[in-house]
Amino acid sequence: MARLELINLNKTYSPKVVPVKDISLDVDDGEFLTLLGPSGCGKSTTLRLIAGLEEPTRGKITIGNTDVTNARPGDRNIAMVFQSYALYPHLTVYENLCSGLKLQKVPSAEIKQRVDSAASVLGLDAGLMNRKPGQLSGGQRQRVAVGRALVRRPHVFLLDEPLSNLDALLRERVRADIKQLFAAQRVPVVYVTHDQTEAMTLSTKVAVLNNGYVQQLDPPERIYSHPANQFVAGFVGSPQMNLLTLPCQGRFAMLGDCKINLPELSTVPPQIVLGIRPENVRIPQPGDTQIIHGQVFLVEHLGMHNLVSIKVNSSLKEDITVRALLPTDQRWSDGDISLALAPQSIHWFDVQTGDVFRREKVRV
Ligand code: ADP
Ligand code: MG
Repeated sequence: MARLELINLNKTYSPKVVPVKDISLDVDDGEFLTLLGPSGCGKSTTLRLIAGLEEPTRGKITIGNTDVTNARPGDRNIAMVFQSYALYPHLTVYENLCSGLKLQKVPSAEIKQRVDSAASVLGLDAGLMNRKPGQLSGGQRQRVAVGRALVRRPHVFLLDEPLSNLDALLRERVRADIKQLFAAQRVPVVYVTHDQTEAMTLSTKVAVLNNGYVQQLDPPERIYSHPANQFVAGFVGSPQMNLLTLPCQGRFAMLGDCKINLPELSTVPPQIVLGIRPENVRIPQPGDTQIIHGQVFLVEHLGMHNLVSIKVNSSLKEDITVRALLPTDQRWSDGDISLALAPQSIHWFDVQTGDVFRREKVRV
């Protein structure tokens, strides 16, 4: 067992640069944790702290119950894959794959066996072994970088945006390969990305980071279905969730002339944020009660669906825009439209804090 644990980790470069403020999380053997967040939110710094490339200002890191907070990188038995691949340009593919093992003084017969096995798993054929990184495609370099981590048989794998230098089609294929490959490793994997699709497809757990803190730590399905706050709700999901600041009147939030039951609150605030994903704004069906009225002003074709933007009729000074994912078998042209908000798909957030009001508490 080599469970990885971060306890109240903080990294302060200067009073104004504190990329990691207070991060606690754990990753078990066989778990694939993704750190997901916008650029500059402290993902790479967190990974570098785990690897020992940076020293934490406060907090603790353990691997399999051993405190490694102050251990040298080489003593942590961690393998890291970087976005830049970080291959040695003057060494061949074969030499790159075994460079780490030679340092560890692994016997040469075993080196050969491990390299051959990684090369075959990764589809790196013998013809590539004598080439230098400069003679490889981006996808091949990326596989060599992953291979170099695999042959180490480390206690923990760290990957920092390993797909971001690949073009879109290749990225999709390699993403699927990575998922299969690391599922077979049975050690903790920590993967960093700003790409929500990678996070959702690869992970067993996702930690959404912003501003040096974990905003939510949950399986990907739950991050999507139960975002803990407005930041997570807006960051995860494409097209983005509608987040509408609405006035409250009595027990209702007013979306134009549509009255929507508020969750149970001890005091009703003057305003509340309603969140609803575009796929949950739909053509009204018999029995639907939450119907909004407005005008179509933009139709975007996404292939499987149309993303239709409407301005809701309202007496507020500012227009309210709602976006809906609608089927492509109807023509959506500018003009009046009525749409229904699917029941049970509304999220409520506090205007001040951005925290969610849990759906369980909503009146029905
Ligand atoms: P991410 O990987 O999420 O994009 P990083 O962890 O790389 O973000 O960086 C977070 C912040 O920390 C950035 O503002 C960056 O400029 C700052 N930072 C990173 N490394 C250093 C360093 N060695 N010295 C000073 N500031 C740093
Ligand atoms: Mg980074």
